[in-house]
Formats: sequence, structure tokens, C-alpha cells
Amino acid sequence: MNPAVTLSEQISADSARKGTIFVLSAPSGAGKRTVLKRVFDDDAQLGYSISATTRPRREGEIEGQDYYFLDRDEFQRRIESGDFIEWAEVHGNLYGTLVEELERLTGSGMDTVLELDVQGMRNLKTRGLEIVSVFVMAPSLDELERRLRARATDHPEVIALRLGNALDEIAARHEYDYVIVNAHLDDAVEDLKAIIRAERCRAHRQP
Ligand code: 5GP
Repeated sequence: MNPAVTLSEQISADSARKGTIFVLSAPSGAGKRTVLKRVFDDDAQLGYSISATTRPRREGEIEGQDYYFLDRDEFQRRIESGDFIEWAEVHGNLYGTLVEELERLTGSGMDTVLELDVQGMRNLKTRGLEIVSVFVMAPSLDELERRLRARATDHPEVIALRLGNALDEIAARHEYDYVIVNAHLDDAVEDLKAIIRAERCRAHRQP
């Protein structure tokens, strides 16, 4: 350790550190959004990175709250300008994380949740970002299908596409740091809270 650096200087340098980035992935219908909502309700220290997408807005979704809804030309233009830290085509639409959005949240020291597909998680790892990755699963494929159909906000062909993609995503779950099986909502919520809490206690994050 550099003796010229006093303990108080070291502590203040540490406290200026950036927040932890939690990446959450799940096949559609696994209940990730419901779990997340409950965790956010009880954790004021957690920020949510709002993604941009070309997907049409679903009923009840709010611009700038659920997503930044962009048309494909605008999305492409922003890819070319280097505005995304990662982006991917998911279920036929483009989704991406804006550099500005992530820097705003983590720069203020907030722990931040990013909802990404498997490609997004891999892209961030490839870029060398330090992330904590969590995969949320439905208890079975049958249950996943039932939840997707019950949602009824998507067309049947979209549901079929999402189910097909779910198989590929589930196969990638071992690439994640943590896996939560969402059989009972309360348990899944507690699992995610416990993961976040444990990560905050990691020695290298302590002053
Ligand atoms: P949905 O259309 O159901 O809101 O999201 C579909 C998928 O896109 C989900 O798996 C979600 O995690 C993923 N997704 C949402 N935002 C982003 C993003 O910014 N980047 C990537 N790579 N995937 C995203």
C-alpha cells in the first residue's frame, strides 16, 4: 500500500466508486418483471436502466419509464453514433442500453439493474464490464407457456417465437453468477434481495 495515501483519502476514493451493475435475464414469461417490481418497491438504493427499443409499445407501457421507444432508423442512427454500450436483436426487434443512461445511474454511486437478454449479458462481459449476472427461470416450460398465453398482450406468432427463444436462453443459464427459479413469487423476491444484499457486503465494495 502506498504510505503517502492516508486512510481517510483511501476511504473517500472508495466511496466515490461506481455502483454495482446487476444484469437480469429471463425467458419471457418467467416473471422477471414482477419479481423486479417487488424488489424495487423495497429498495430505494437501486436504479433501473431504461433500455431503448424498436418494439411497439404495449398497452400500459410509458415512454421513458418502461423503455425509450425509437423507430428503426433512429435506433440505427444511434448505433452508428456509438450511443449504445450494448445492443441486440431480440424476438425480431432491436433493444439496447444507452451509455448515457448507465453512466448517469452508476456514476451517482447507485446500484443499477439492467434487464438484458443473453446476448446483452455476453456483450457486457466481453467489454470487460464488472457485472453481477442473475438468470430468472420459470419452474417448467409448460408453466412458461401458460404464463405467456395468460399475458395475452402479444400475438400468437410472437408467443411462439418467444417460446422457441426461451429454450436457447435457458440453455445459457450456467453462464450466469446466480439462477433463481421463480416457482413461488415471494421466494423469488427474497432470493433476489439476498443476492443484492450479499453483493453489497463483498469485501472489495467496503470502505
Ligand atoms: P420485452 O419485449 O418482453 O420487454 O423484452 C424482450 C427481451 O429483451 C427481454 O429478454 C429483455 O431482457 C430484453 N431486453 C430489454 N432491454 C434490453 C437491452 O437493452 N439490451 C438487450 N440486449 N436486451 C434487452
